[in-house]
Amino acid sequence: DQIQTTPHVAILPSPGMGHLFPLGEFAKRLVHQHNFSVTLIALAAGHPSKEQKAYLHSLGPSIGSRQLPPADLDDIPADAKIETRISVTVARSLPPLRDVIASLKRTAHLTALVVDLFATDALDVAKEFDLHPFIFFPPNAMALSVFLHLPELDRAIACEYRDMPDPLELPGCVPIRGEDLLDPIQDRSNEAYSWLLHHSKRFLQEAEGILVNTFVDLEPGAIGGLLKEEKSGDEKKARRFPPVYPVGPLVQSSTAAVDGGAADDHHQYSCLNWLEEQPRGSVLFVSFGSGGTLSSEQITELAHGLELSEQRFVWVVRRPNDGGVPNASFFDSHGGGGGAADNNKLLLDGPSAFLPDGFLDRTKGVGRVLLSWAPQIEILDHPSTGGFLTHCGWNSVLESVVKGVPLIAWPLYAEQKMNALMLVEDIKVAIRPEINQKKRGLVERHEIARVVKALMEGEEGKKLRSRMRDLKEAGARALAQGGSSYNALCEVASSWKKNKTLT
Ligand code: UDP
Repeated sequence: DQIQTTPHVAILPSPGMGHLFPLGEFAKRLVHQHNFSVTLIALAAGHPSKEQKAYLHSLGPSIGSRQLPPADLDDIPADAKIETRISVTVARSLPPLRDVIASLKRTAHLTALVVDLFATDALDVAKEFDLHPFIFFPPNAMALSVFLHLPELDRAIACEYRDMPDPLELPGCVPIRGEDLLDPIQDRSNEAYSWLLHHSKRFLQEAEGILVNTFVDLEPGAIGGLLKEEKSGDEKKARRFPPVYPVGPLVQSSTAAVDGGAADDHHQYSCLNWLEEQPRGSVLFVSFGSGGTLSSEQITELAHGLELSEQRFVWVVRRPNDGGVPNASFFDSHGGGGGAADNNKLLLDGPSAFLPDGFLDRTKGVGRVLLSWAPQIEILDHPSTGGFLTHCGWNSVLESVVKGVPLIAWPLYAEQKMNALMLVEDIKVAIRPEINQKKRGLVERHEIARVVKALMEGEEGKKLRSRMRDLKEAGARALAQGGSSYNALCEVASSWKKNKTLT
């Protein structure tokens, strides 16, 4: 076969749209700014969702994609955590991954394999094929610091992290209470914890470098802390952590590609027309990401809270999770097939089945309720949008930073409590409602109304908004030529362009 001379990078996101997007955006930067060609290798447990297919297709001809066959997870217990399911999917996909890499190697000048946080087993394949083994970490530098310190914490701390008497102090990070640490390490006897520990050890041992979707002005402390660990000390300590490259904020430029013909497209986009008619900065966008769900009781409180706040809103409602799992739709709705039927059912039944009686009528003039997939980027970009009540998924946070929209932090799962902590206490761009622990951990309607009002029309909201606008400018500077993230990516790209066998 004729080998292409353009340097080529293979990228392996772990399943889930929240992982695919940032890696897709990263691929675009490699192609458009550094003249790489790229193949995205997609994984799914079950059949790939239409959103995933539509997104890969939207990347255009310069970014190829390959879909690995679905991994068989039939033997995995139904109550296995999402991190376990994702990690097992990756581990079982190594044989077809090898085939794809071998075939790319025959025709392309393949130089690096970039995998994301739960796909570290694939770094073995990078080594087998003599490729630069890199990790792309979609969350932030603070979460990366937890990952890189996890093997040490595991040795030093005997109890559950949530029972630690003092908050965890990592270099340059805001102190983190044990209970706010990421979900999958909250139960050390669970298999998800073993997987996280496994990945974190491989971060330290197998990665040549780690790219992270953040930027220096957003997390100066945490990034400074990581870089210091990388360089400080004597010879032996000098390579304690692999080099870390903050290359963010990498976010999609538009949402349009993903919906791929959803039954309620018209309704989804009509909300943008509705936004046109609303006063500047007057609308609160409410969404819990691609997988976040609430209980029926909490949906009722949120509905009443929005009504009591007397503010305009666009709310993306998903079916309630009365099984009690807050990320119930992560895998099946937008991460791996099966969800479309559910969403269609939801569309047929309508949201009134689980919204308070008369809510839709009473809020007709001031609110919009969307089902399934919202054009989030376009909504955040719209001048009428003045705030975002978010589950603090890191993509959503970065999108808000890029668009300069202040936040209400309502974390649900994964590392979202840590993100909320940082947004509220460290970079001060979010307000957080109190949870009533005595009432089944509910956020009650009056509390919701209070934070919504404070964000949308209070003095506090003004401060958060102005801080978010500064960060928006800082983010744009980081990505522009000569900016910190731009330079970090240049450094990585040029190392990949060197012939690996000579380095
Ligand atoms: N998203 C969207 N429409 C939706 C829900 C989510 O466009 O209705 C996008 C959102 O813009 C973001 C991603 O999906 O890019 C969600 O990623 P995030 O890290 O915020 O949360 P996750 O879904 O991974 O928990």
